[in-house]
Amino acid sequence: MSAFLRNGAVLSKLFFVAILFSAGRIDAQTPLGPIRVEVDETRAPQRILHTHLQMPVKPGPLVLYYPEWIPGEHMADGPIINMAGLKFTGGGKAIAWRRDLVDMFAFHLDIPQGAGTLDASFDFLSAIGAGGFSSASSETAHLGIYSWNQVLLYPQGARTDDVMFRASLQLPAGWKFATALKAASENGGQIDFAPVSLTTLVDSPVIAGEYFKVVPLDPSTPLGTSDTSSRRVEADLVGDTAASIEIPADLTQKWKRLVQEADAMFGARHYDRYHFLLTLSDRVAHFGLEHHQSNDSRVNENSLTQQNSIGVVAHEYVHSWNGKFRRPAGLATPDFQQPMDGELLWVYEGLTQYLGYVLAERSGIWSESYYKERLAETAAYLDTEPGREWRPLADTATAAQVLYFSPGQWTAYRRSTDFYDEGWLIWLDVDTAIRELTRGAKSIEDFCHLFHGGESGPPMVKPYTLDDVVAALNQVAPHDWKAFLGSRIYQVTPRAPLDGITRSGWRLAYTDAKNEFIKTGDGDRVEAMSSLGLRVRARDGMVNDVILNSPAGKAGIGPGMQILAVNGLRFSAEVLRNAIRDSKTASGPLTIEFQNDDLVKTVPLDYHGGMREPHLERVADKPDLLGQILAARARR
Ligand SMILES: [Zn+2]
Repeated sequence: MSAFLRNGAVLSKLFFVAILFSAGRIDAQTPLGPIRVEVDETRAPQRILHTHLQMPVKPGPLVLYYPEWIPGEHMADGPIINMAGLKFTGGGKAIAWRRDLVDMFAFHLDIPQGAGTLDASFDFLSAIGAGGFSSASSETAHLGIYSWNQVLLYPQGARTDDVMFRASLQLPAGWKFATALKAASENGGQIDFAPVSLTTLVDSPVIAGEYFKVVPLDPSTPLGTSDTSSRRVEADLVGDTAASIEIPADLTQKWKRLVQEADAMFGARHYDRYHFLLTLSDRVAHFGLEHHQSNDSRVNENSLTQQNSIGVVAHEYVHSWNGKFRRPAGLATPDFQQPMDGELLWVYEGLTQYLGYVLAERSGIWSESYYKERLAETAAYLDTEPGREWRPLADTATAAQVLYFSPGQWTAYRRSTDFYDEGWLIWLDVDTAIRELTRGAKSIEDFCHLFHGGESGPPMVKPYTLDDVVAALNQVAPHDWKAFLGSRIYQVTPRAPLDGITRSGWRLAYTDAKNEFIKTGDGDRVEAMSSLGLRVRARDGMVNDVILNSPAGKAGIGPGMQILAVNGLRFSAEVLRNAIRDSKTASGPLTIEFQNDDLVKTVPLDYHGGMREPHLERVADKPDLLGQILAARARR
């Protein structure tokens, strides 16, 4: 998954993790045949989905689960709160249900004698709003993104690999669709899919809409195998307008290169076919969610003309190898109810962040300068983050299941899901160390070929442990990798791991010049964490985050306060930026007037450092390893 939490998006909803493992679990009923799930999406534009399930049952007690731990979301965020109208019938009669007293995702039923089939139906109340990843806003008047975990129940005790589902979907009239599932038949908006396991079904969302386009990216390139199946790759676009899915020809070329660059990086494909499912809408939540044979990425309506925001698809594509094919053992759970152990998310997400961004640059979707500016901003933020004085990176991974929904205030002190961005720095560190240890003979790609490559084939999961990662690194370049990773990830590190940047021939430097990546977010915020120690919402001066031991923090400014004026001028983003820039030559302090509830206060900030925007600067006497890392690999 890729989320955009650090830079201002505030997910403030309180989040409670349901208590699991109710006392007195009863014996599971093994399903006797495929479960049918028929979903009616014809009212999706009204934000309601109707589902009807039919499953073979035996008389006696039965427990049904609503999926709770959603793969790729790394937490217990199954949207059970949006289930309504739940009803069961069997043998022609209504069957009463009772929710488990402590497991909110479990329903107890008693199947009467003579009932061989259970019918269940409910509505899914589709959310409006940005919080909650795949459960957040997923439908508009023109399109829908359908996640099967939202609209089904399955029997307790069944491994999701073992229980088979036969799914069907009724779409609004005239809408077209895409998914990694194989359609068995299609008739007037009614689609019947071939039976698949529950694992595959939940791993295969459907996008559909009025404005729809298929972009073939790679018709047939079997890799690393004699297998003649096509392993076809395509992008499927839905948007809120006809213009939103008009893809510029050069972006199609870059996207095709992304597929080629990933082939060069991994040397095998672990899917039968792959669909980039891309939704272009300002009305749905924005994030990316990985699947084995597809990804569900949701971006702004105009993103095809703002190509930096398409970088998310490179991250999600890498997950087909790193996250889906190779998965930390703690995240490879047998069903959707068992809690996940996220400790190795610094590999699952951190390495994906590193490889995904490298691929975004090698394919041309990101420019080289954008990559470097974004890396500089990331390194600068992490290096000034006060939370690293108390919380090791590994703990941000272990606590991911609560950190994804942590409030936006005091993020730098609390730390957020830093295993993504700090993973970028750490795997750059690993890549440059491999290059140095092997005198340029090997790189992270040798690790990727070893760890994620092998024979091409259909989806499968190969779980791993930390020892497996260390062993593979040692096979590429013998070194004390356990100590290398341990000191960076499992210990408290007051400074960010910047060795990868310096080893690659660059250093982090601060100047008054605008950072290209920060500039892209300028509409939303004034980023002054490296100078005054605060981040402010651009439109109204609301303080989003503060570093306690910074000029702003020391002056008593905190998150939730509102800046009213700077140096006596009414607040605007420009006024604040100008004041910070001019602080270098100002004789007196910078003054800020702010409102804290009903109190208004003016404070002097003794600051004369200017904007301090982060950039990468070349170290003259060192080889440019970063340039080598960013060079395209695939033959053109
Ligand atoms: Zn991810």
